[in-house]
Amino acid sequence: PKRIFSGIQPTGAIHLGNYLGAISQWVKMQNNNEDIILSVVDLHSMTLPHDPKQLSRNILQMTATLLGCGIDPQKVVLFQQSTVLEHTQLCWCLSCICTMPRLAHLPQYKEKSKDLKDIPLGLFVYPVLQAADILAYKATHVPVGEDQVQQIQLAQDLARMFNSRFGETFPIPHTVITGAEFARLRSLRDPLKKMSKSDPDPKSRICMTDSPDEIVRNIKKAVTDFTSEVTYDQEKRPGVSNLISIHSFVTNKTVDEICSEAVNITTGQYKLMVADAVVSYLKPIQDKIEQYSSDPGYLKDILQDGRDKARNICANNLAEVEYKLGLRVKV
Ligand code: ATP
Ligand code: MG
Repeated sequence: PKRIFSGIQPTGAIHLGNYLGAISQWVKMQNNNEDIILSVVDLHSMTLPHDPKQLSRNILQMTATLLGCGIDPQKVVLFQQSTVLEHTQLCWCLSCICTMPRLAHLPQYKEKSKDLKDIPLGLFVYPVLQAADILAYKATHVPVGEDQVQQIQLAQDLARMFNSRFGETFPIPHTVITGAEFARLRSLRDPLKKMSKSDPDPKSRICMTDSPDEIVRNIKKAVTDFTSEVTYDQEKRPGVSNLISIHSFVTNKTVDEICSEAVNITTGQYKLMVADAVVSYLKPIQDKIEQYSSDPGYLKDILQDGRDKARNICANNLAEVEYKLGLRVKV
């Protein structure tokens, strides 16, 4: 049976990349009545130095954001990763079959560790935890942005290795990626990088909770190039193409429609059009996020309920893993 798992780190306000690449996909799948499990993966957001107070605020804020974006906790299992201990238990089991060179190759590790003097072990092993997140539920499909492809490949490899050593246990999870132009939104400051929550420059992204003024300002300042026409070419014109992708998503127009409507305007004028479209698209979502944020009691209830459902699913799977590994002694 098809089962979908995905997660998002409570490292801060989500941006349009998270929304286009991941969350809007989740909402679509939910509305198709698929079996879907979503986790606010708090343990992953401790892999870089963090502020505890900020993290606990972010967990609730992320929950409010997901609900505001249309995630329905009646249809989806929505929970906080650290409240389901099976994740770390399975992580340990998988880390005993994963090798260090395999992890050292992963691009996200290279990128996030490059400016650090002392690299926390957690940053190195977190892809194993990510594999555990997925495999604990025997998930078959993992909808993510393009930046996660190699991480999911690790989960696939570990599932295969476990199956071949200890007997058929895990289905091999498939990666599900949205349309190419949304799978990797780019930084507004540097179109060669992806848009990221943890980028120190807030002008590099459009957050779902940004005010209209901030949105207009950041899009106006978005780095493009020296050509003033509005044309789409991901390779040669990544900056403008990124704006066209965003515009296309929020207006539901195709890239061709957009470019033909913009033949007579400059990229400067075009930026204002995009900003307007983004502001009006986000308004109703922002209102809902704010409503949910004002009710932390409700958010906690949702997460608790989600935790119980998540545990119900993965407890049996972990028992099976423990039997296969010889951890459960039969007398
Ligand atoms: P961080 O910088 O803290 O890693 P992030 O922006 O990469 O934050 P994550 O919580 O790591 O966000 O990822 C959540 C989901 O959003 C993942 O499925 C990821 O692939 C997707 N995603 C992240 N950035 C983008 C992007 N620029 N374009 C499309 N999807 C993205
Ligand atoms: Mg990330």
